[in-house]
Amino acid sequence: MAEIQLHNTLSGRVEPFVPQKPGEVRMYTCGPTVYDYAHIGNYRTFVFQDILRRFLRLRGYKLNHVMNLTDVDDRIIANAATAGKKIREYTEKFVQAFFDDCKTLSIEAPEHWIRATDHIGDMVQLIQRLQEKTFTYPGEGSIYYRIAKFPAYGKLSKIDLTGIQAGARVDNDRYEKESARDFALWKAPKPGEHFWETAIGPGRPGWHIECSAMAMKYLGETLDIHTGGVDLAFPHHENEIAQSEAATGKTFARYWLHAEHLLVEGEKMSKSLGNFFTLRDLFAKGYKPSALRLCLASTPYRRQLNFTFNGLQQATNTIERLRNFADRLKQGKFPAGEQEGMAARIARAAEEFDASLSDDLNTARSLAAVFDLVRDANIAMDKGEFRQGDVAETQQFLATFDKVFAVLEDNDAQKLQTLGFTSAQAGLRNEDIEKLIADHTAAKKKRDFATADRIRKELADRGIILEDAKDGSVRWKRK
Ligand SMILES: [Zn+2]
Repeated sequence: MAEIQLHNTLSGRVEPFVPQKPGEVRMYTCGPTVYDYAHIGNYRTFVFQDILRRFLRLRGYKLNHVMNLTDVDDRIIANAATAGKKIREYTEKFVQAFFDDCKTLSIEAPEHWIRATDHIGDMVQLIQRLQEKTFTYPGEGSIYYRIAKFPAYGKLSKIDLTGIQAGARVDNDRYEKESARDFALWKAPKPGEHFWETAIGPGRPGWHIECSAMAMKYLGETLDIHTGGVDLAFPHHENEIAQSEAATGKTFARYWLHAEHLLVEGEKMSKSLGNFFTLRDLFAKGYKPSALRLCLASTPYRRQLNFTFNGLQQATNTIERLRNFADRLKQGKFPAGEQEGMAARIARAAEEFDASLSDDLNTARSLAAVFDLVRDANIAMDKGEFRQGDVAETQQFLATFDKVFAVLEDNDAQKLQTLGFTSAQAGLRNEDIEKLIADHTAAKKKRDFATADRIRKELADRGIILEDAKDGSVRWKRK
């Protein structure tokens, strides 16, 4: 087996991966802020960290993986107050939706799912440690981190703070504006909103302190791997390092892995562009969870992923092909014996699969190794050359592939039913159809005929016919 190499944002290089304790990996992933449904860009990162953990487990590592749920921040506190709900009541729906979505995408549960609101005491203790070491100062009921006292600040994101004026915000969490370039560890309460009464005063935690406190509680003061989306490297992860390393004097995380952004049809995803998708939006259009997982996993994590409906359709076809091949192996009656060269062909594919994933999780290359073998074996079967003696090894190879990619089991329909969709190929609801027609009309107006045609075809595939009325409006009917 090849040596595992991972790109470490800290060093800016691809490095051999060697955990602190042989055979064991302590890993932390920044989870979602649960004030809304997570979108496919979020799930790109979560699928990446799932591929990573599954590959490490395939290689025999015991995982201790923590993922947090940020169930307290400014939006959550404000939204809960507006809704007249407690924070837990308000976030519960989105927490449950996130768990359901993860299951639907076959994202393995980490060893610890933890919530920020269960760890306020740990955050307070960490802030107290920083207070003792004079890394903090108070200001109007809040407690700030003194960046100037931590000279290594910027080592992860390579940010140079010298150009940043005092008074500018080096923080993107959603609390009220600060008057210092330093970031807040603890925020003064806002009138009418939720706060905690603690030893360091009343208030609520800053976002960054959550992850430092929770990661170290479950994983010790030095983690092996910390993962997240690339947008978290600065300031969030930089601040996690500053807090943790100032408190402990030890390296906080040895390998930092960041997943790149996702684009939709070449554009940044945004609600205003109408290209913003949650998982449920795509399932409502009839796409399968397995296809979405494969689509999100197929581009190596350090490359921007251009999500397209064409790509999602291709992933759908690929899954069909893989599952048909697995069925063919299971049901096929092949001539006895072994095909000459097939055992070596399978061994080569297995080696290439492992080598590609060892190479900083090159998922595209590892999938190519699988597709090539499937193509060759299918050709051999068509010619009557594939033999019974090669079945077990081919199945073994597919099983190894699926331990990482997890798309072979034909369970999409059950998963969608669990989410409340009637079946994998659920008929479009009227509101979904109206939405697609509105998108179609908007695309035509912009003279974006490719998109307009794609939507018309998608509707046709789902049994919906569009009719252009004389007055320029569009009517539809079911086939
Ligand atoms: Zn975090």
